[in-house]
Amino acid sequence: MRTFDSIQTELRAGRINCEQLTQEYLNAIEAGRNLNAFLSVFPERALEQARAVDRKFSGGTAGPLAGMVLSIKDVLCVQGERVTCGSKILETFVSPYNATAVARLVAADAILIGKTNMDEFAMGSSTENSAFGRVKHPQDTTRVPGGSSGGSAVAVRAGMSTAALGSDTGGSIRQPASFTGVVGLKPTYGRVSRYGLVAFASSFDSIGPFALTTKDAARILQVIAGHDESDSTSARNPVPEYLAALSRDVKGLRVGIPKEYFGEGLDPEVRAAIEKGVDALRRAGATIGEVSLPHTEYTIATYYILATAEASSNLARYDGARYGYRAARVHDLTEMYVKSRSEGFGSEVKRRIMLGTYVLSAGYYDAYYRKGQKVRRLIREDFINAFKSFDCLVTPTSPTTAFKAGEKADDPLEMYLSDIYTTSANLAGIPGISIPCGTDRQGLPIGLQILGRHFDESTILKVADFLESAS
Ligand code: GLN
Repeated sequence: MRTFDSIQTELRAGRINCEQLTQEYLNAIEAGRNLNAFLSVFPERALEQARAVDRKFSGGTAGPLAGMVLSIKDVLCVQGERVTCGSKILETFVSPYNATAVARLVAADAILIGKTNMDEFAMGSSTENSAFGRVKHPQDTTRVPGGSSGGSAVAVRAGMSTAALGSDTGGSIRQPASFTGVVGLKPTYGRVSRYGLVAFASSFDSIGPFALTTKDAARILQVIAGHDESDSTSARNPVPEYLAALSRDVKGLRVGIPKEYFGEGLDPEVRAAIEKGVDALRRAGATIGEVSLPHTEYTIATYYILATAEASSNLARYDGARYGYRAARVHDLTEMYVKSRSEGFGSEVKRRIMLGTYVLSAGYYDAYYRKGQKVRRLIREDFINAFKSFDCLVTPTSPTTAFKAGEKADDPLEMYLSDIYTTSANLAGIPGISIPCGTDRQGLPIGLQILGRHFDESTILKVADFLESAS
């Protein structure tokens, strides 16, 4: 498995060029087809881009990500390629433009290799909800890789690209990173432009990287972060030098352990691994303290009220008239709407649209949606208060390691509980990262989550990089 550092060394030494490197990744994609990680692969485009980067490399004009081969979750627009969102309703839709994050990566000379499989419209925690078949865990194909960005996580874990982009609305980068044993970063809401990201829940959605190392994730964030005219919610805050933060010096850093994140339902092996990570921080001179986030018990309920409300509104645009799938043999407009949506959407998406429509409807709006907004503020304040005494918080990413396919597929509530430690960061808008932190008895990866202050990705990257070096 190649990190970007090792690729750069090989490129500089002339041991490989970008074209050969890209071909190797294409071969790996071919060899791993059974994992179903990709929804489209673009060999000609990737090889042509690789040759162009090779020319720049010899001319000394290559960008900062020259030689990084990326796969992109199929919820982000890549001009001229399909963007299915894992849904039948967009199966044939071709994107007319590039997402800002994608355009910035290409401008930095990253090479795009393909689009990755995902839960339909990013709704799920196992990538079993894709209309194009489930993604399999590379270590044990009877298990799930997590979701919704399961394809991106597997692409990185199985050496099918150097790194990948995913989206995280409630944990969809961090939880699959945790299940597959890679690094997954969800930046602060507004840190990365959402232009060209197909919306699920607009006030939660964040774009971020999957990589083998924290350093590679930091490099990608460096390129994609920053204000964008095309997304009014993208922040104007200056973008710091993320690599400069990776000093591995955690002495004096105040690390909070939220006690509510270590309660019922947490697998003892996961707990033990996180405690080991915390010990490493303590030994390196960090100050560890317990902290309370008192509204934690409302996190899942609040997330599933607000995110579904936003989804019901965002998904109204798939009406058969404007984009994608349109049902055949209909007699009037209403029938076209009904049939197109009934046939085009999968059952989890329908469940979310119904739930979201319900909580927004007259008579229930105050009881659910408005109350949810109020609780969201309380959850956010819990974090702001905690960050008065602590520089970052350490928690498990998910209560368990990768579960078996089918195990939770018929029980949506069980599935939703998989996000118990990740949805809070999206409710609060803060950044979070999941890094590998040992394995369980079966050899399945365990993820450790670090949460930070708004726009302080530097601190969580620093802690992540330290723990990576300590393990
Ligand atoms: N698993 C969560 C959900 O189903 C989060 C998904 C996401 O982050 N996109 O909503």
